[in-house]
Amino acid sequence: MDFSRLGAAVNDALFPQLRCLSCGRRLPLRLGLCSACELKLVPLYALQLIPPKPLSGEVCLYPYEGVAKELIGRFKFRGQFDLPLRRMVPALAARVQEAGFPVELLVPVPSNLPRLHARGYDQVWLLCRALGRQLGLPTCRFALRRRWAGRHQTELSAEARWRNAAVQYGRGLRTAPVLGKRVLLVDDVTTTGATASACAAVLLALGAEEVYLCCLTKTLDNAPAPAAWPGANHSL
Ligand SMILES: [Zn+2]
Repeated sequence: MDFSRLGAAVNDALFPQLRCLSCGRRLPLRLGLCSACELKLVPLYALQLIPPKPLSGEVCLYPYEGVAKELIGRFKFRGQFDLPLRRMVPALAARVQEAGFPVELLVPVPSNLPRLHARGYDQVWLLCRALGRQLGLPTCRFALRRRWAGRHQTELSAEARWRNAAVQYGRGLRTAPVLGKRVLLVDDVTTTGATASACAAVLLALGAEEVYLCCLTKTLDNAPAPAAWPGANHSL
């Protein structure tokens, strides 16, 4: 009888989460990442983020690659949102506070309904709610509404994403909560910024004073907005 393997199996059964979220290495009495993966989680400090119009500011925690991509994958696709949130939300809250954004209300980028039903949870809302608690700020889940435009952003070319985002996110639901507020828009992954830009335009049209963006990760091979991009074409 191999007692070490039996012990490992019992440990796994009792404490299935005590493994590194990225490489799967066993972690003694600790949740989250092993020290090797922790070192690989390079924050996105050095990069000067220029927010797409009409956003007033943007912070992002990590580039969407390596360990951060693995964490997001668990959070977004595999239903393991609790530990990645506990690992990432305090750091994201600290980044928002360091940036000095004068925000008063958090609004999540709305999720794609068919995917939300398939997944069974709305990961951006979970992120937004956890971040709101961490920052001590209120949240408004349904300020924005998403309309299914038939194509996923990831299937489109960079320029087409800007047009598609304006269609998908070009509507808002509730006016009162955002009226006169400085809003922090929350997302998990941003790519071109087209989605955030479209959402910000709607929030401003709904009466928000300013809109800032915070996201967990960002792809770094971003194509800039088309030169003639006028902002989202919102119809409320
Ligand atoms: Zn690891």
